[in-house]
Amino acid sequence: MGFPANAEMMRDAGYRYLETGECDACHQPVEWWRTPKKHEIPMEPMPTDWSPARSHWAMCAVLHPTKQSSFRGDPVPHPKLKNSEAVKE
Ligand SMILES: [Zn+2]
Repeated sequence: MGFPANAEMMRDAGYRYLETGECDACHQPVEWWRTPKKHEIPMEPMPTDWSPARSHWAMCAVLHPTKQSSFRGDPVPHPKLKNSEAVKE
């Protein structure tokens, strides 16, 4: 069995809308829902009953940074925070 496809199906499946809040990680608006097993989960905002039900955890840009940005093979060089070379005037 899969996750309900939209807000109406979530209610039918026993999920309950709690409140609108924001993600601790990325501070985007999320809707907190309680699952039938009494877990509280952040969902992408669903303004209508037929809005697609998508877990914010799967969408969060902070928890899941876009992989196509800088990971092309070469590791990012570690910045040297302390450079002990002589300071030029
Ligand atoms: Zn987030």
